[in-house]
Amino acid sequence: MKIVFATGNPHKLEEINQIAKGSGIEFILPPEGFNPVEDGQTFEENSYKKAKDANRVSGMPALADDSGLCVEALNGAPGLYSARYAGSQQEKINKILKELEPHTNRKAKFVCVMTLLDENGEILHVSKGECKGEIARKQSGTNGFGFDPVFLIGDRTMADMSEDEKNKISHRANALLDMLSYLKSRGL
Ligand code: IMP
Repeated sequence: MKIVFATGNPHKLEEINQIAKGSGIEFILPPEGFNPVEDGQTFEENSYKKAKDANRVSGMPALADDSGLCVEALNGAPGLYSARYAGSQQEKINKILKELEPHTNRKAKFVCVMTLLDENGEILHVSKGECKGEIARKQSGTNGFGFDPVFLIGDRTMADMSEDEKNKISHRANALLDMLSYLKSRGL
């Protein structure tokens, strides 16, 4: 079964196809014209908006995720605004390290909400995944993307981990595994 995955980020597509390997489901990129407006107030709303736009341009079942980094000492920021927190990936990393400099509480979590729509654009299932960790004092590792080089789990960052390791514990993996169980339970 093919499902459109509402993203323009090939790295994410690769990640979720890797997690879904063996499930019989293949995620594909949306066709031209995919252009969601992510102006929701929650991860749930934004993932719905993205899925709806992917369904609109493809006429196919669509899955979308919305994710972000929530830092306890920053009252959950950057959260919903993680993608727009700073310009480049490196600028985001520099900014979070600087903002957290005075804080001893380094607790953080990645959150991912996924929304699955059928071919008519109706909601089939919503799932949520989290991954808890801490913000490192300095960046490490070259794998992954976004905040991975400063997201510590134990003594390694997510960017120190192989793709396989990340895909076993990530927020996106947790949300997607729930989604795949739903699809399996429906015989899809
Ligand atoms: P979105 O879900 O594509 O809107 O992503 C929001 C932002 O959250 C991304 O641009 C990244 O900065 C951050 N983010 C989401 N997932 C991850 C991850 O797995 N690793 C690192 N950063 C992430």
